[in-house]
Amino acid sequence: MPAGSQENGNLAVSRYNHVVEARDGSGLLVFNSSTGAMIKVDPGIAELIAKGAIQSLEHSVVEQLCAGRFLVPPDLDERLLAFSETMAVWYGSPVTQVVVAPTMECNFSCAYCFQGPNKSVRSMDSDTICRTVEFAKTLARGTSGISLDWFGGEPLLEVDTVFSITSSLREWANSNRLGFWGSISTNGFLLTPATVDRLVSLGVTNATITLDGPQHMHDERRMLKSGDGSFAEITGNLRYAVMHMRIAVRSNVDQVNVSSIDDLHSYLVQQNIVGSGRAAFYTTPVDRFNDYPHCMSDAAFLEFFEGWHATHGAAAGMWLEVPTPARACMARRPKAYAIDPDGRLYKCLEVLGREELSVGSVHANPSISSVSLQRWSMLNPFDRPECMDCSFLPSCRGGCPSRWMQNGKPDCRWGPAYLNSVLRAFNNHYEEVAAGSGQCDKST
Ligand code: SF4
Ligand code: SF4
Repeated sequence: MPAGSQENGNLAVSRYNHVVEARDGSGLLVFNSSTGAMIKVDPGIAELIAKGAIQSLEHSVVEQLCAGRFLVPPDLDERLLAFSETMAVWYGSPVTQVVVAPTMECNFSCAYCFQGPNKSVRSMDSDTICRTVEFAKTLARGTSGISLDWFGGEPLLEVDTVFSITSSLREWANSNRLGFWGSISTNGFLLTPATVDRLVSLGVTNATITLDGPQHMHDERRMLKSGDGSFAEITGNLRYAVMHMRIAVRSNVDQVNVSSIDDLHSYLVQQNIVGSGRAAFYTTPVDRFNDYPHCMSDAAFLEFFEGWHATHGAAAGMWLEVPTPARACMARRPKAYAIDPDGRLYKCLEVLGREELSVGSVHANPSISSVSLQRWSMLNPFDRPECMDCSFLPSCRGGCPSRWMQNGKPDCRWGPAYLNSVLRAFNNHYEEVAAGSGQCDKST
């Protein structure tokens, strides 16, 4: 379907429709990037839509197409609408997000770690802890609540700091009738039952934990600094944690472990860790940091991703997200910051701890007007011809701001090629769930 509206009667074809054939050839998937809606239609209907022959469509079909904004009023300026909706998502988020790394140190030595092998061993001192709490409170004023996310390094190496800041912010949020949502990204080794109980009592109810394959594979990749394996301890912790927290098990995939993800997933289902309404499971590619040599090409990862979801479409616990215009990353939201152990502020987790890319500090007046901060807000996809002509603009919005900054141009990495794979995978997933042949814990 061409970009650019085609008028027909009182309706026109949206410039933000994106069409791809279903993996099994059973129809065409039409995604609208300004609403995130997707429908499956037979080729005949797709052709009528593409030609703008809307009067030949049944009324009920037209109604559905209008609801998803696949068809729009002919005088609607969709670019203008995309711009105003983008501004609303970027600047109108009602929630404050604070991601805190109480240390960049880690008890693991994963070869592909994007934070590198020589992590700072510094941890947050008591003054920085106080100022972090005050910074978060100041940022949260006028919003509906605080989302506090723990990150690292390994945050549970500084578990007292995690408890202390969480407790202070949750108490403050409660006494000011604001919402509070806590989560943690941890390697899982120190997520003991006692720690789970304490975290949950403080409102940290979500955790993301990484497993990279069955035991032999995981232990070769995500070993302790001593060289010992970590799989047995983590899965032992997970058996307790899944009964008390909402868990996402993440698998970092590259050329080395790609063929063993299936075994890991089967093991987790068999152990009653993933599925049955417990942990969700998802995969993500290992990125090329620190000259790690085993990354997959984007095309190879997408081939794996789509094929894997085709055969595990409705397998227990699968978590699959479709791009949505309703979400914006931290770099785009003025009420969202990551904080390192020294109290420096960042607009992206990928650069957390890289002092030269920090945009301020909890120790300074947090009015946030530094030049380094302005550099992030200057990345405007509505100024870029390639984005303005792109049917993916309202969902992509120029891609990852951090990569845009590094490469000096919008980041198409997860653009149309990725979208095609995700749409085909999601369709397969959805149809199997709808057919009742599997379960779906978490999907959008
Ligand atoms: S557990 Fe995470 S932070 Fe620690 S070394 Fe591995 S990838 Fe890096
Ligand atoms: S970054 Fe690429 S895929 Fe995203 S809107 Fe711009 S041109 Fe389209």
